[in-house]
Amino acid sequence: MIYIDDKIEKLISIAEEQIKKQFEKIDKIAQKNSLKVLNAFQNNKVAEVHFQSTTGYGYGDIGRDTIEKIYCDIFKAEDSIVRSQFISGSHALTVTLFALLRPGDTFMSITGKPYDTLDSVIGFNNNKSSLRSYNINYEQVDLINNEFDIDLIEKKLKEKKIKLIEIQRSRGYSTRKSICLDKVEEVIKKIKKIDNEVIIMIDNCYCEFVGEKEPIEIGADIAVGSLIKNLGGGIAPNGAYVVGKKDLIELVAERLTVPGQGKEVGPTLGINKNILQGLFLAPSVVKSSLKTAVLASKVLENLGYKVDPKFDELRADIVQTIEFGNPDELIKFCQGIQMGSPIDSNSIPEPWDMPGYEDKVIMASGAFTAGSSIELSCDAPIRKPYIAYLQGGLTYEYGKLGVIKALQNIII
Ligand SMILES: *Cc1c(COP(=O)(O)O)cnc(C)c1O
Repeated sequence: MIYIDDKIEKLISIAEEQIKKQFEKIDKIAQKNSLKVLNAFQNNKVAEVHFQSTTGYGYGDIGRDTIEKIYCDIFKAEDSIVRSQFISGSHALTVTLFALLRPGDTFMSITGKPYDTLDSVIGFNNNKSSLRSYNINYEQVDLINNEFDIDLIEKKLKEKKIKLIEIQRSRGYSTRKSICLDKVEEVIKKIKKIDNEVIIMIDNCYCEFVGEKEPIEIGADIAVGSLIKNLGGGIAPNGAYVVGKKDLIELVAERLTVPGQGKEVGPTLGINKNILQGLFLAPSVVKSSLKTAVLASKVLENLGYKVDPKFDELRADIVQTIEFGNPDELIKFCQGIQMGSPIDSNSIPEPWDMPGYEDKVIMASGAFTAGSSIELSCDAPIRKPYIAYLQGGLTYEYGKLGVIKALQNIII
């Protein structure tokens, strides 16, 4: 049971007074994104028939095809593929890289080391199925003080042919900041001036509907994200999306399914309604997640913790980091988030060797969908300086209760 301590309640109300302006801004963005979603539903004449499902090969699944048209509208993209056959975001990123790259090609990350689950995909550890095992080369340009290192990017582009550039907007398990789209737009313009053919691929995980624009509108060629994050709205049971140029999406579809069959196949097995309903709720769910993050940022800052972003900083994603400086408090905070969850509130998470991650990781996610991080969740690799990555919150009210429980677990 969650009992709310008076002292904590006071701290929360003080913080809530201090963050009113931020909440107003978040409400406005959610209103705009809701209009975008509603118009996409209406333009594509969504009807009950689209909730029907296919089995087997999944030929002629009009619900699936309509979902993909809606994603095109929302992202202003030529084409999209939105499937539960993508296990999650990591799988969609993997399929996209394998679809677009050929032996001898080079791809380059310009936001430092990509998300941890891509280590084995790229082949840092010489995984036998990695891109490296297919003789696909990797180059990396790190951010300097959270800015693109444009000089080094330009130098590398002039030095040798780069096939694809990856830009990861959210920070993953790094300490850098997330990247707003105006900065991405600026760097894409500079890159395209030097090489107009290089494919710009965006890892858009955690960033959808945080702002008013999405990556394709500002010049990216292809963008990838997870449905157990923002756009799934907490309702999609799994899956991921890829949106972008038509020729690129065709390559991705033929790698996910079968060359020659591409988007034509893929049974939906009853999830069309969940994907549509999740997308419908997504602007509001992202809003709740952002408010939960801003609240956590302000309360923990008031208590003297180092937080990022600060409550009044412009946000590019839904992730809030809190630096604890020691493993004990970090673990207790994560465990408190679990205790404040609707599901599995009695099981206490412990750090473990999760597949795809280098350090031990603790993951608190008492979610309706396993591993969903659009539901209130908190995770952390157990390494210095002991930073918790907090995100999600299907509603602000539940998000707040989770933060209260986690606070009580460390300070009472
Ligand atoms: C979560 C995340 C991924 C992986 O998505 P999953 O759905 O968890 O596989 C990739 N990149 C970034 C930046 C992420 O935050």
